[in-house]
Amino acid sequence: MEIRFKSRRAPVIHDFPYPRRGRKCPHASLISITNPGGCSYACPICYARAYPWSDPETIVIYHDIPERLKAEIESSWLLFPFYLSQITDPLQPIDEVRALTLRIVQLLIDCGLSFRIVTRSSDGLRWLVRMIPDLASYPYFFVELTVESGNEKVVVTSPDAPPIPDRLDAIAQLTGLGIEVVARIDPIIIGLIDEEDLDSLIGAIGSTGASHIISSTGYFNHRSMKRLLMRMRECGYQDRIHRVVKAYRYHPGAKRRRFTTSLQFRKRFHRELRAKVEAKGMTYSVCQELPHEYDSPDLATCEGSRRNPVQIRIGERFEPLPCYGDCLCCPRPDDPPCGEPRLQQEYPYRTATLFRFRQPPLFGEDKN
Ligand code: SF4
Repeated sequence: MEIRFKSRRAPVIHDFPYPRRGRKCPHASLISITNPGGCSYACPICYARAYPWSDPETIVIYHDIPERLKAEIESSWLLFPFYLSQITDPLQPIDEVRALTLRIVQLLIDCGLSFRIVTRSSDGLRWLVRMIPDLASYPYFFVELTVESGNEKVVVTSPDAPPIPDRLDAIAQLTGLGIEVVARIDPIIIGLIDEEDLDSLIGAIGSTGASHIISSTGYFNHRSMKRLLMRMRECGYQDRIHRVVKAYRYHPGAKRRRFTTSLQFRKRFHRELRAKVEAKGMTYSVCQELPHEYDSPDLATCEGSRRNPVQIRIGERFEPLPCYGDCLCCPRPDDPPCGEPRLQQEYPYRTATLFRFRQPPLFGEDKN
């Protein structure tokens, strides 16, 4: 895999690209350290590696992100929780990527901002906590660690990421340090992952101290589905290919560009899985593919944590608001605590909206 370095042209801070209609994801401040799917783990199930515009053979590292991010934070009056990263792994085992993540995390802590790290990298998380010991007591941070299968079938789902037992150990270690950890088990590949696999995975996660589980059955395009089926064949799971094809209603000649499980299946599947997760004392949410009513009650957002509030500039500091960025469920829609009702309509938000009210810079001495 080729590694290249590039300056980032687009704004660093950006929202999920989904429109208002049908949207479930709260507003967030996404940061992508590399290009979509620019990840050395190269998971065969990765949706970001399958975008038509992705080049999965190249990792483009945006080397100037910390400087650009600092300037954007200085110009913002309101910031949604930061999210590293939805299209790449911010702790993948590439020194330059980890070094950038370290600088970004330190910057966010210095500014008192809320953030979460989404990763498969158990060793990367241990390294990060060693490098920034204060992370364990930082109140506006939590981890989402992906554990999408049992150790036997990880050869299909994420063969180059750390083994599943090590990821589970990392969850236990982090929760032991007082860090909140959410386990992502998505996407669960229906037809490959059996009910027994799921039961044993939920049981194992339940004994790590994780508080919440996020799940989905996922979606595929032609490219990612072909990659998944080929990988199953290579790994000796060819006898299950027909089950996956049936579950996701896939046909290589189909004009459809997106292959998912049926709505009826998803409703039943998530209802049953939620009951199992809640029986283990954890909460449960469905990533995107079903509405909030299929999640556990009383969650702040589907991310399952209350450690990521929206933050607003008060003078030179950022202070938490009593909300988590889910503006479609604003706690006071007619008089929003942020004072900006347009955020209930803007999906995705425009970066200019965050910069609209110019305030004194947070880092005055560096501004020239
Ligand atoms: S106060 Fe309401 S509109 Fe403003 S950021 Fe929070 S949820 Fe969104």
